[in-house]
Amino acid sequence: MKKFLSMLLLFGGFAYSQNGIPTDYFSNPLNINMVLAGNFGEMRANHFHSGLDIKTEQREGLPVYAPANGYVSRINVQHYGYGKALYILHPNGYTTVYGHLRSFAGDIEKYAKDTQYAKETFEIELFPEKTLLPVKKGDLIAYTGNTGGSGGPHLHFEIRDSSQRPMNPLLFGIEIPDSKKPIVSAVFAYPTGEDAHVNQSQNRTKLRLIKQKDGTYKTESLTAYGKIGFGITTFDQQDGASNKNGSYKINTQFNGTEKFEVLFNKFAFSETRYLNRYTDYNYYETNKSMVQKLFREPNNPLSIITKEDDNGYITVNDSLSSIYTIDVSDFKGNTMQVSIPIEGKKMEILDPKKVEKTADYIYADHATSITKGKFSIYIPANSLYEDTYLDIKDEGDILKFHEDVIPIHSNISITADISNYHESDKDKLYIGRLNYKGLPLYTSTTRNGDKLTAKIRTFGSYTVAIDTTPPTVKPVNFAEGKWISHQNFLKVKITDDLSGISSYRGTINGKFILMEYDYKKDVLTYNFNDNINLETENNFKLIVIDNVGNSATFEAKFFRKHP
Ligand SMILES: [Zn+2]
Repeated sequence: MKKFLSMLLLFGGFAYSQNGIPTDYFSNPLNINMVLAGNFGEMRANHFHSGLDIKTEQREGLPVYAPANGYVSRINVQHYGYGKALYILHPNGYTTVYGHLRSFAGDIEKYAKDTQYAKETFEIELFPEKTLLPVKKGDLIAYTGNTGGSGGPHLHFEIRDSSQRPMNPLLFGIEIPDSKKPIVSAVFAYPTGEDAHVNQSQNRTKLRLIKQKDGTYKTESLTAYGKIGFGITTFDQQDGASNKNGSYKINTQFNGTEKFEVLFNKFAFSETRYLNRYTDYNYYETNKSMVQKLFREPNNPLSIITKEDDNGYITVNDSLSSIYTIDVSDFKGNTMQVSIPIEGKKMEILDPKKVEKTADYIYADHATSITKGKFSIYIPANSLYEDTYLDIKDEGDILKFHEDVIPIHSNISITADISNYHESDKDKLYIGRLNYKGLPLYTSTTRNGDKLTAKIRTFGSYTVAIDTTPPTVKPVNFAEGKWISHQNFLKVKITDDLSGISSYRGTINGKFILMEYDYKKDVLTYNFNDNINLETENNFKLIVIDNVGNSATFEAKFFRKHP
């Protein structure tokens, strides 16, 4: 049978790993060595990273080549998120994804641009038919860039299975040299049972790490009792780059028995926000470092947890000594081990669990409505992961809605009564979240008569804010009445002081022009190669509208020689 199987595989012409994943099907989509700025599964704010961030030598415009045959199944252009993104569906059912592109190439670029002009919009999402844009392995499909929510030039590369679940691209035989072991930078204990303690504390306890001669680590010896979980901060570095990427596998044992395993092979996008349950949200918000909790709490359905015994918790008995070990590995199998010696001892608790009791106790599995002054709050069932006391106060126009130290899984509504505002102002109001400077950042707000409603997923202070100032528009590389025959682009800077830019529309001589919006630079760019019928004398007009409907109109005349 085994022989028959391998014959079958050979016949297909591709090699497969043990779990049936093709290991030489996809080639490197770039013609430079793969160096990673980010890897699969690493922890980001509110999500696990779903692909590889491939470095592009700090440059944009590197050619991207199809890593296998297939066809363009989706083109997505957004201001935020993946920016310009391309999806290729391959005959074996996998989809490869390319994000933050500067542009597409050839027929793909032409198809995208034609559609943008036909729909008169920059943002588009298209699902071309199978026969429309076929690609062969090695075809030029796009150029790398820095579009959307990208913090520097790179290619975001993903491989998804036939259910659109992102998979670890390294499973497909992509070679990333890595000779360094992962680093475990901190270890924490979480006493969980009623009478459990760690060094006489019921609270999260940071353990001191001590390096051993053999390169492994040990923590200080603990006295502990009862049901306890552990958590770590970890990162891995590959050869040739200093970026701190995610570790691939974490495995724990208690007295030699396996307790818990986390493996970054695959997840579903519907799971990704449960990162806030898996990591210590409170610690992240206060220390900006992600602690992975090596135990499964209620309301954590994550499939990256691949093995667990008693949800990963250990139970320490009185007067018994035991040992807990954590093995952290990278994809190449380099492993760092940390061991935690534990003395079982039931002791008096000197640092009891800190719980701040308030009037508003929320049952996570119930829907709750709360009214404070002019604000009413609706918390749907399962917006929170656990039953919690919330600290909620209204101070006139400000709603203090706890602090951003507890995660919110799904939307909570905040409604504000605006009947005491001037009728003429009501259209310019929105609900804003106060940032650290006290500025009200726009949250998507809807108005229904005298009620404003915002849906929010972060605790903090919210206020009713007013924006009566229209956006500003400034030309970047031209001026009223000037000749600009030698310029390839027309650029303007657009900004809005409070509620932010909602939409814009540019025309030349009354005809729509495609302007690409880079929100990171506040710049709109039109490419003269788009070949709108220009005259010698041209009238450029741009209308920009902010999120509460304040509108600015900018007009300028420019001259251009044309053939
Ligand atoms: Zn990425």
